[in-house]
Amino acid sequence: MANPTSTPAGGPSGPLSHLGRLIAISSGKGGVGKSTVTANLAVMLARQGLRVGLVDADLYGPSIPGMLGLPANQPPAMSPEKKVIPAEAHGVKVISMGMLTVDDKPAIMRGPMVTKYLQMFITQVDWGELDVLFLDLPPGTGDIQLTLAQAFPLSGAVVVSTPQDVSLKIARRGLRMLEQVKVPILGIIENMSGFTCPSCGEVTHIFHQGGGREIAESIGVPFLGSIPLDPAIVDSGDSGQPLAEAAPDSPAAQAYAAIADALSGDMDRAGGLQVPFAWDLTTGEGKPAPASEGAADRPLALDYDPSGLTIRWPDAQVQTIDPRDLRLSCRCAACRDEISGKNLLNPETVPMDVVPTRIWSVGNYAIGVAFSDGHNSGIYTFPALRDIESVEAEDV
Ligand code: ADP
Repeated sequence: MANPTSTPAGGPSGPLSHLGRLIAISSGKGGVGKSTVTANLAVMLARQGLRVGLVDADLYGPSIPGMLGLPANQPPAMSPEKKVIPAEAHGVKVISMGMLTVDDKPAIMRGPMVTKYLQMFITQVDWGELDVLFLDLPPGTGDIQLTLAQAFPLSGAVVVSTPQDVSLKIARRGLRMLEQVKVPILGIIENMSGFTCPSCGEVTHIFHQGGGREIAESIGVPFLGSIPLDPAIVDSGDSGQPLAEAAPDSPAAQAYAAIADALSGDMDRAGGLQVPFAWDLTTGEGKPAPASEGAADRPLALDYDPSGLTIRWPDAQVQTIDPRDLRLSCRCAACRDEISGKNLLNPETVPMDVVPTRIWSVGNYAIGVAFSDGHNSGIYTFPALRDIESVEAEDV
């Protein structure tokens, strides 16, 4: 289980650091179950003890309040500091356009307005301390999504698709878009992936199975799991009690739970470093236990001394990364231009004696690093780590 007391892993630094990890849930098209997935994952993580917030950024068709049983069109309260107090349901703090509009008409907005609203949802809302803040994005792979993906220091994005070819093709386009803007892709979820029989609970695959996994593999991103088509999901969404709570033992709820675990880095892994971990380099506490074997692209051991961070890879390569090189290689949105990949970080602003102070696991594909200069929004995928020049590379 994820550690609720650990500092938010991979979250933004600076004024947004109290929000923890900012995770966008996107889909190429509407109706694939993106909001249902978001609501259920949020509730699952809250049940695990994480402090979870949810921004219903699907401003054109806000459905999250209904799914979580929150009254529609009820304006949220304001704090004495003139911040919006989010509603709370099933342990999740929620803000949605659905709470701000006074009628049922969908809000018609242009891209810049959507971004403005979303910015407000993130900065003008009294979220308190969060471990994770989900953004339920509007469907699509166009300008709005692109702007949103760039407007916020996202820790990562999840793409939801159904198994039909057309949906998967659009999902692939969405994945490419996220890749272009350098948003780390946390993985793809296949929803409505087979039919759960209401009487016997057996799951039958109606559509082509495994398309989500194939796309994930072809693009080289994690496949987070499939959720079966289950009529109980519609009922629970309509009644405002997410399946994660209404029927926690159902196959679909268990699929949500497995995906929530994967997202919180609490997944059983085939070899490699044990996750999750949160290693405080100033005290040495929480250092991940080394593994003896593992998949080719995952470190077996991490060590740190003043010469740098040493990573032992399964192919017997030992890489030592200079502490300052590690800082300068940060690929977060503040350090790299998302579109051109150009380095935005002026090396002169980085102290010569900068050192990592904390290293934590991000899922099973990356580490997050906090530095002595206060920077803590960098997520280093394992392939990206390998690309950083080693102080000394040696075969053992
Ligand atoms: P989106 O956010 O992608 O537009 P929604 O989450 O609003 O999609 O879901 C669309 C409809 O599909 C809702 O009625 C929801 O209850 C239903 N739904 C979502 N996931 C499933 C599922 N796995 N099985 C059955 N119905 C589902």
